[in-house]
Amino acid sequence: MNNLTNEEIWRGVLGEMETLLSKASFTTWFKDTRIISKENGQVVISVPNGFVKEWVQNKFNKQIFQCLKQMDEEIREINYVVGNPFIKTPDSRVLAKDIHFEQIQENTSDADIDPKTNLNRKYTLDGFVVGTSNELAHAASMAVAMNLGRVYNPLFIYGGVGLGKTHLLQGIANKILKDTPDKKILYIPTEKMVSELIEGIRNKTIEEVKTRYSQKDVLIVDDVQFLAAKESTQDIFFATFNNLYNRNKQIILSSDRPPKALSAVEERLKSRFEGGMIADIGIPDYEMRLAVLKMKMKNKPVSLPDETLQYIATNIQKNIRELEGALNRIIAVVDLTGREPALRDVEKLLKAYIQASYRKTSAQTIIKTVCDFYGISLNELLKKSRKTSLVKPRQIAMYLLREDTKSSYPDIGSRLGGKDHSTVIHAYRKIINEIDSNENMKQEIGLIRERIYNKA
Ligand code: ADP
Ligand code: MG
Repeated sequence: MNNLTNEEIWRGVLGEMETLLSKASFTTWFKDTRIISKENGQVVISVPNGFVKEWVQNKFNKQIFQCLKQMDEEIREINYVVGNPFIKTPDSRVLAKDIHFEQIQENTSDADIDPKTNLNRKYTLDGFVVGTSNELAHAASMAVAMNLGRVYNPLFIYGGVGLGKTHLLQGIANKILKDTPDKKILYIPTEKMVSELIEGIRNKTIEEVKTRYSQKDVLIVDDVQFLAAKESTQDIFFATFNNLYNRNKQIILSSDRPPKALSAVEERLKSRFEGGMIADIGIPDYEMRLAVLKMKMKNKPVSLPDETLQYIATNIQKNIRELEGALNRIIAVVDLTGREPALRDVEKLLKAYIQASYRKTSAQTIIKTVCDFYGISLNELLKKSRKTSLVKPRQIAMYLLREDTKSSYPDIGSRLGGKDHSTVIHAYRKIINEIDSNENMKQEIGLIRERIYNKA
């Protein structure tokens, strides 16, 4: 197979990587990569920036190597270089400066909102704990902060409440301002933007508002799920988006769901949202929750024993805001009493928190939502049919009933048309595995949960 061109070989590698990664990951790491040369067993791959280089080298080198070797046995070594003649290379001075700033740990205090920018200085990328649930979103944010308007435009970050979207968005803004203070950045929550637009239309000052937005180098709009189904505001936002985009100005958006699921947003705007990079933030795992608690402890005047932190991390699972709230609650008690609480006291103190953080829903809501989501009737869900189109929703319903209502396996079985408890256990485990290995499954469950909990 030695007479393949470099381009063909690389296409083969990309094809293989595409099947291994989620779409978002694949685009992030392999967009604008190619083979520059292949000589004497040495392959040189060009990547668009230093950030991608490091990541691809550390995470994917082995797989890339194996793919390459299948196509050309003589390959022994891969080198990655930054630079691609098709797109502008990042300014190396910016990168160097950046690394320098990364090493400076800033001590920020609470309620540290800069009146000029509306940014909370405490939301830094340095202070953002990275784990598997937010790795991609964080990486994409770094890449964007270092290559404004050049790598992923727009950057669209989505995830449930309290998982760090605002922190990340403001972190990007703070980083840009630190590295390049002359950049004009607007961070704006969607509700504020919508009300500015409506007011602008009403007071005939809309041209001024539009100009103000369009003069920015970076426009960051938080929580776009709050875009109202109002044509006039979406028209203006669409025009502003295009205006900025066409001049390579960076746009960053967040939402609680992926663009496709934004039902109030017009198609043309949604497809703009999808045109760059989409990264999700998921539920943090235990390691990450513990890491967040340790990070938040750094700025506190008191200390807590590890077992307390472990207890909090074990019991508060769904939301980092709640995790922080629980921590602050314990700290307040330490402050008041002047001593560390025993684990028993911690349990008592957090009881209300832990109960409140369980999702509140009913079996009925879950079942109805799953049926609606997959467009099947309740009868079909309960039937004994083995059709894939029915088995999958049924298994997902079982999984959600188990996870979100804590029902017993036999209860779930009888609710779903008299299934055996072993069938339920099988379904539950199967979905857990799939969530781990299959990005689409994870997203589907996420979407169904959005529906379940937004209804309440
Ligand atoms: P969202 O905008 O997604 O609802 P926020 O960005 O407001 O969530 O995050 C809620 C709280 O959790 C904030 O205080 C934030 O600093 C903290 N937080 C979230 N994710 C992280 C993280 N990865 N590392 C450190 N703190 C985090
Ligand atoms: Mg937010």
